[in-house]
Amino acid sequence: MLELVAGGGRTEALRANGAAGFFAAMSTVAEHSADLLVLIDKDGLLVYANPAASALFGVAIEDAIGTSAISFLHPDDAARVTRRFLELLRLPGGTMTDTVRFVSTSHEVRILEIVSTNCVHNPEVEGLIVNGRDITERKLLESELMEQSLHDALTGLPNRTLFIDRAERLLSLARRDQTAISVLFIDLDNFKTFNDGLGHHGGDELLVAASRRMNNVLRSEDLLCRFGGDEFVVLVNPRSLDSSAELLALRINEVLRSPFQIDGRVISVTASIGVASGREPSVEDLIREADIAMYQAKAAGKNQVVTFVPQMETLANDRLQLVIDLQRAIEQDEFVVHFQPIIDIRDRSMTGLEALVRWDHPHRGRLAPADFITSAEENGMIVDIGRIVLRASCEKAVRWRLTQRGLTLAVNLSARQLSSATLLDDVRRILAETGFEPSSLVLEITETTIMRDADAATGRLRELKDLGVRLAMDDFGTGYSSLSYLRQIPVDILKIDRSFVADLHDSPEAAAIVRSLIDLGKTLDLELIAEGVELEVQLDELERQRCNMAQGFLFARPMSPEDLEAMLEAAPSGKAASFAGPDASPRS
Ligand code: C2E
Ligand code: MG
Ligand code: MG
Repeated sequence: MLELVAGGGRTEALRANGAAGFFAAMSTVAEHSADLLVLIDKDGLLVYANPAASALFGVAIEDAIGTSAISFLHPDDAARVTRRFLELLRLPGGTMTDTVRFVSTSHEVRILEIVSTNCVHNPEVEGLIVNGRDITERKLLESELMEQSLHDALTGLPNRTLFIDRAERLLSLARRDQTAISVLFIDLDNFKTFNDGLGHHGGDELLVAASRRMNNVLRSEDLLCRFGGDEFVVLVNPRSLDSSAELLALRINEVLRSPFQIDGRVISVTASIGVASGREPSVEDLIREADIAMYQAKAAGKNQVVTFVPQMETLANDRLQLVIDLQRAIEQDEFVVHFQPIIDIRDRSMTGLEALVRWDHPHRGRLAPADFITSAEENGMIVDIGRIVLRASCEKAVRWRLTQRGLTLAVNLSARQLSSATLLDDVRRILAETGFEPSSLVLEITETTIMRDADAATGRLRELKDLGVRLAMDDFGTGYSSLSYLRQIPVDILKIDRSFVADLHDSPEAAAIVRSLIDLGKTLDLELIAEGVELEVQLDELERQRCNMAQGFLFARPMSPEDLEAMLEAAPSGKAASFAGPDASPRS
């Protein structure tokens, strides 16, 4: 072994100086080695230790010599290493490698990779030569990296990898004990809106605060993990469950609901939680089932706990298919835009059109917005669809010379579009490229969307208004905006929701609500459009209450571009068309 250290022709030169000279040279090499080098006799006592070894042990060389080499090992490693040394002693010339911990007299623990060689039968050595390299730093780095790779950097919570590892172990215990483990899949509601409103720093703060609260509800046997974004998953240990996993989920939802203070703003968060339990499926299956149940909770209106049942599987497949189909629809331009006239109640002339999207699905036929808008909103594809609808509508509006006819074009914007970073650029570019007059364009945003984060929405709406377009608050009456908010939100038009208009003629309460909505609009000097007018009696009541505009099947259903074009061509060049009553309603 020593020969290897010296190497080549130099060995011969050293040997020529005689054995004493050779060992003197070799001991100088050992003295200066940064690695530990010790010689142990067959009784386990130290015969030689180099300075690197004595520094590691924390004792002077002369004090180390003659003591038991094992005494410097970490107590947990001592028995194993002794056993391995004894094995090595039975193998003349044999080597043994190991990773061992040494403890210095000052109690510092270092990790060494050692190579031991049995030279007991070599008369010049008569012992075990142990060579050791300090790998403490490398090991620390390794365990840090390991820690990082298993934890989420933002919240410090375990990540998916660690979750699966723990869950698999727990699942095999559960199978043995005939119990079931549960998985909760938690997704914060409307997190995207909060994140956009608060900025990413505030969004991060919210995630950390929410994860702390959730962790406080759990028992130490349960495991809360972050799967990414605003998705958290809890592994519920059956042993810790004094009540059901559903109750635990409800408790989590409850602690999230009390307000958070982020960046001086008070924010109230809810979550949609899916629960799946069992011992038969794999961990991946349980996660997927809890995820499916979480989606059901979202679809059922968010802020609730839903437990997985097998029938949900088909629903999940349908949803996936819808996403795949929507992607294709965007690429292959399967959307068509229909237009519904908006009427001036006093003279029943048309004042504008609302663009309403339809999807010509290759297998399912024509689909209404209700069949796909929510899904497109969830996965963000609504931003692309919205852009397609806006461009197609503006192109038609220019071709039909709506501005010259004194008609407006209304286009719906969804929540996701309103918070999209590209919205302003999209609207600006489409207006410029189609040449449509901005003041003839009305963008409709539902009251619920605006009220979800009224402050953020107000800023966004101002920016839109700066482009010269007008704004309408859609489905007004359903989103609980107060007078004080309405005052600061820069809208020009309120569209009274169809649900109030529907009951207008036979429900005094509905009539009273419509009256107060109209009063509110008038107080704020806003234009009013009643949606979903189907009957003459409803129109009469609206007229009595001095609502100025209406939209509904009584006048016209949403029409295909072809039908609408024909109607416009037939009309005189000024105000496009007149709607005398039911008989005059074009159908589509
Ligand atoms: P909305 O903006 O409130 O549009 C009015 C809806 O009421 C339309 O349904 C229209 O067909 C329907 N409607 C109009 N008059 C009557 C009536 O007298 N009786 C009844 N029962 N219904 C009437 P549609 O076209 O199915 O659209 C539903 C919703 O989908 C829209 O409500 C809007 O929120 C959304 N939407 C439609 N197109 C788009 C779009 O391009 N982008 C986005 N983001 N959302 C859209
Ligand atoms: Mg609308
Ligand atoms: Mg509406």
